[in-house]
Amino acid sequence: MFALPLALPRQPSGGEKAFEVARGQGTEQAFTGRYHDFHGDGVYRCICCGTDLFLSRAKFDSGTGWPSFSAPIARENVALRTDGSYGMERTEVLCARCEAHLGHVFDDGPPPSGKRYCMNSASLGFVARGDLLMRDPGSPGYYKGDQGPGHARIR
Ligand code: FE
Repeated sequence: MFALPLALPRQPSGGEKAFEVARGQGTEQAFTGRYHDFHGDGVYRCICCGTDLFLSRAKFDSGTGWPSFSAPIARENVALRTDGSYGMERTEVLCARCEAHLGHVFDDGPPPSGKRYCMNSASLGFVARGDLLMRDPGSPGYYKGDQGPGHARIR
């Protein structure tokens, strides 16, 4: 049973698609999402609650038309459950915090993990590395260059 859906962030486009996929166990059409052919350096977060899910360095080109990752950013950030829909036995991947549907994980990924986390772009939001440093207090470098008198200092 799903918890009440958290508010989805407003998106310039794709908001309805995000809801259909993340809260309705949908799958976007291959090669149509924002991230299957995207190579930015940063982190992919849950589109619903912002939990960090995948680092860009875990992303690989699977040729499937869906963004694919060899491993989540941390094992505890994703939840897995058996999905028997469509006559297949698959392992569904969800956001561990808000249970947004993210995609499925398969055992045909590259070494060393051998895993292919096959994700829907609609369930993810990408944040570039440079923006992470600006937005996350506590990140190394957050107050970099701003250490004059009267300014907060983190380190
Ligand atoms: Fe989430």
